[in-house]
Amino acid sequence: MRVLFVASECVPLVKTGGLADVVGALPKALAAKGVDVRVLLPGYPGVMARVDGKKGVWQAEDVFGKRAVVRRAAVDGLDLLALDMPDYFDRDGLYVTDEGADWPDNPFRFASLSWVAAEIARDGLTDGWRPDIVHAHDWQTGLIALYLGAWGVGDVATILTIHNISYQGLCDATLRRALKLPERGFTSQGYEFYGRINFLKAGLIHSDVVTTVSPTYARELESPEFGCGLEGVLAARQERAIGILNGIDTELWDPARDAAIETFSVQSLSGRRASRKALLKAFALDGKRSGPLFGVVSRLTDQKGLDLLLGVLPEMLRADGSLVLLGSGDRRLEEAFAGAARDHADAVGVRIGYDETLAHRIYAGSDAILVPSRFEPCGLTQMYAMRYGALPVVARTGGLADTIIDANAAALGAGVATGFQFDPGSREALSNAIAKTFAVFGETSLWRKLQRNAMKHPVGWNGPAERYVDLYAETLATRRG
Ligand code: ADP
Repeated sequence: MRVLFVASECVPLVKTGGLADVVGALPKALAAKGVDVRVLLPGYPGVMARVDGKKGVWQAEDVFGKRAVVRRAAVDGLDLLALDMPDYFDRDGLYVTDEGADWPDNPFRFASLSWVAAEIARDGLTDGWRPDIVHAHDWQTGLIALYLGAWGVGDVATILTIHNISYQGLCDATLRRALKLPERGFTSQGYEFYGRINFLKAGLIHSDVVTTVSPTYARELESPEFGCGLEGVLAARQERAIGILNGIDTELWDPARDAAIETFSVQSLSGRRASRKALLKAFALDGKRSGPLFGVVSRLTDQKGLDLLLGVLPEMLRADGSLVLLGSGDRRLEEAFAGAARDHADAVGVRIGYDETLAHRIYAGSDAILVPSRFEPCGLTQMYAMRYGALPVVARTGGLADTIIDANAAALGAGVATGFQFDPGSREALSNAIAKTFAVFGETSLWRKLQRNAMKHPVGWNGPAERYVDLYAETLATRRG
């Protein structure tokens, strides 16, 4: 089975969020199960650096006005295909300028990615490789299935995975000719969305199968609260979105072999205590507080609910807790957290920016990781936290609801709890969950029990990859009759 992955991010080459972790890890888990996967990415600088000097395996003189070459290289266990189009992709910001505005040519950049993927699916590469299945990810790849349908390519199956439905790739309707979109599809039943072009909607309608990254998010997506205007599209599909929980790369995220930290394991936690000390030092916190050290590693956007954390911070500090936060995004949140760190330099440490090594250190050294998201398709930070023995305190939504077993009376009685859940969007609920975290933290043996449960919780890709393999086989069988 040959599968072409198409996405706009991939660890370790280029990352803004969880999509990159998935695209960097799932192909390896699939390859271990005998699937022949190649991963097509835009040729951003970090991607091109890894295919430098490689000959093209596909090329065209004019893809939306630019020359396009696809170069292939083996990179960190991935069979990588880089779409070399410097005019479109040789930029540092993946989607936005330094000022935070969308690149004006984003529609053409990601239509190019989709177009080239569709051409590879139709004709194959010059080395003779042609996929049976295209597995597309998020709005940047939404047009692939639309182009394939318009060209009448019938023997390639298409799967689209929604990692976050709130990003849809909307653009002006007048571009549809320039983007070579079929005119007849521009209706409310097609890729039109309130008078504009919607890349993700095109993918949802035209792909054979739609999946998303957790069972709870799959259900949530059909409600107006979470569906972001596409709930009707999903509900109208004969086969609704299938929820397959993400895993994490357990080699890259292994507290026993992580070069960024003092290593430790569930049997021996002394390295964890050293990691906690080192983390306090890295943030210049005094470490004298008796309560838990909470950690946050997050994009700073409205989705992540960190404004709620700002609201409960005073009481967390009064109760003798402390906080370290690593993140970037919304300027107002950045300033508010930086201000909190200035006001409480002994107990609040804040680093604005993106720092992979520091992220590992925060998971390894914090007692608890806070994820107060308003919605969370899957969420990976709570899984890294579990693996590193930091107890997740999470909003009960999407994949957070599916991965964490709340320390309620029943779970505590059964000895299976792995963290703390609370109702999303509620400051009061967050405050109660934090109070509960303090209470359990005060009972050392109970805390250790939860920590052990969390560290042993299966979070790898083996199970999810098996589900994708089955899904590929079924989808291909249906498509090819
Ligand atoms: P999302 O994809 O919505 O950002 P996820 O929880 O699925 O959320 O994935 C976030 C990923 O990005 C995790 O791997 C997390 O560790 C990482 N991350 C987020 N912000 C930062 C940051 N500022 N520095 C380093 N890693 C970060």
